[in-house]
Amino acid sequence: MSASLATPDRPRLLDALEERPFDLVVVGGGITGAGILREASLRGLSAALLEAEDFASGTSSRSSKLIHGGLRYLALGDVALVRETALERKRVFALAPHLAERCWMVVPARSWAGLLKFRAGIGTYEKLGAVEAADRHFHWNADELARFEPALRRDAWRFACVYREYLTEDARLVLANLRAALRRGGLAANHAAVEGFLEQDGRAAGVLARCRLTGRELRVRARCVVNAAGPWIEALRRLEDPQAPSVLHLSKGVHVSLPAERLPVRHIVIVNTSDKRSMFVIPRGDVVYVGTTDTSYGRGADVWPEVERADVEYVLEPLSRYFDVPKPSAEDVVAAWAGIRPLIAQPGRSPSEISRRDEIWIGPKRVVTIAGGKLTGYRRMAEEVMERVARVLERPLPPPADEDSPLPGGDFDGDLDALAARLVTQTGVEAPAAARLVRLYGTEAAAVVGLGATPLLPGSKVLSGEVDWAVGEEAAASLEDLIYRRTRAALYDPLARETLLAPAAARMAALLGWDAARREREIADTRGRLERDLGFARATRGG
Ligand code: FAD
Repeated sequence: MSASLATPDRPRLLDALEERPFDLVVVGGGITGAGILREASLRGLSAALLEAEDFASGTSSRSSKLIHGGLRYLALGDVALVRETALERKRVFALAPHLAERCWMVVPARSWAGLLKFRAGIGTYEKLGAVEAADRHFHWNADELARFEPALRRDAWRFACVYREYLTEDARLVLANLRAALRRGGLAANHAAVEGFLEQDGRAAGVLARCRLTGRELRVRARCVVNAAGPWIEALRRLEDPQAPSVLHLSKGVHVSLPAERLPVRHIVIVNTSDKRSMFVIPRGDVVYVGTTDTSYGRGADVWPEVERADVEYVLEPLSRYFDVPKPSAEDVVAAWAGIRPLIAQPGRSPSEISRRDEIWIGPKRVVTIAGGKLTGYRRMAEEVMERVARVLERPLPPPADEDSPLPGGDFDGDLDALAARLVTQTGVEAPAAARLVRLYGTEAAAVVGLGATPLLPGSKVLSGEVDWAVGEEAAASLEDLIYRRTRAALYDPLARETLLAPAAARMAALLGWDAARREREIADTRGRLERDLGFARATRGG
């Protein structure tokens, strides 16, 4: 069975969505929806998914990109959540080791006492996550710190605790799960917004949707509907029940990227903000990204919540306290993104204190709604949703078949360096390019390079074959889909992203039959988007 989400096949896909009733239709193509589509397909259900914008265009492309148990939630007493997500790290690694890169996380300490305090917490965390001996934490003294993480200020930090976490590429984890579902007969359409529910005998019997690329109206029939629309679940719940109470507390999280030479860290480093929150400093190719904020967001679910100057200043503040670098300013920032956490409201608690647990409801018309949770726990959340789907379908569901079979690109032993070395030998791409490609595409990187090994621009890391792959296998339908969520150039390739737009659009135009006007519009739209991401740099302090 093909794992292609190809855009050129879209008319056939839309026909197939209307042809027959499904067991299940999932609304929302973030990690929650993608995980549910995969789980349903593994259990032999006929299942389809509709995403209003692009796959992962919501919160699932704006995270810190950590597959982690969330050590800080231990302090909040959320032991069950930490245990579950800590255990899930290994599962995600086994399914897609390229999308769960094993990393050492460095926690600087000023004193031996500070170090011991942290080690006690991490010991509990490792027990909960059944961490193997080779992956257990250790510490560095001042000499080791100077050798292994030389950017840290030696006058301030004399020790560090070092422990294991996993780094993902969130949007690509979504795509990999969708494509795994397709291998099992699932269907998924991006740019297809659900506008209402079909009804029979007072129950939801499918969805009414509109293809945003063609304007075509779609009637997708299904015996069960799952609302996995993240920050947008409430709008859908109100389509089912206008009186549905509000359940979410939306919180905004901002990350910013600095050029790697501006903040030359070698590992993920945890720093504390001025108000004692933990923040991550994460090296990724040519940039280092830092985040995140956690502030109540009262404007409702937005596709592009604004990155404000105050967010950026907050995120940058700790850096000169931790690192021996000139104080970075908003003008040094080369990329920025904001996402909205769909947290389950807990009145009286600030966003940082609210539990990251998920919750599932069955509505009056039998729509199953899931909200909350974390990227890391997506697989377990999908399992829980299946219990409710079984209730709505009024029949037990079989266990998932081939649950452990790797996601597309994940069929290797987890050694990314060896995989990159093989790619260099097989295809002749340069080592830095290979290192990037295997992190994005895993074992499929060779096929991507096979489609076109020349960089889109001299000096750019993005290859022409990635455009073909994005369109042919991953349903990229706009330049924004390509730049933000397939190649991730918007986040990590800031120097090339402006000049990258024209050659990338030209290649997409050839593949998708765009005329010159459409091509220019795509370039202008994406350039505008990228400029707005950095709009805070133009705003005056406090303005
Ligand atoms: P979304 O990704 O928002 O997906 C919902 C989708 O539904 C959207 O794509 C939207 O377009 C679509 N939709 C809405 N309405 C409709 C409609 N009418 N029809 C069709 N589709 C519709 N978790 C971790 O595990 N690790 C981390 O490091 C981490 N860091 C984070 C950092 C930040 C700043 C934030 C904000 C979150 C972070 N999280 C992290 C949490 C994690 O990102 C979220 O829990 C997860 O991405 C939520 O996914 P989702 O699929 O529920 O929502």
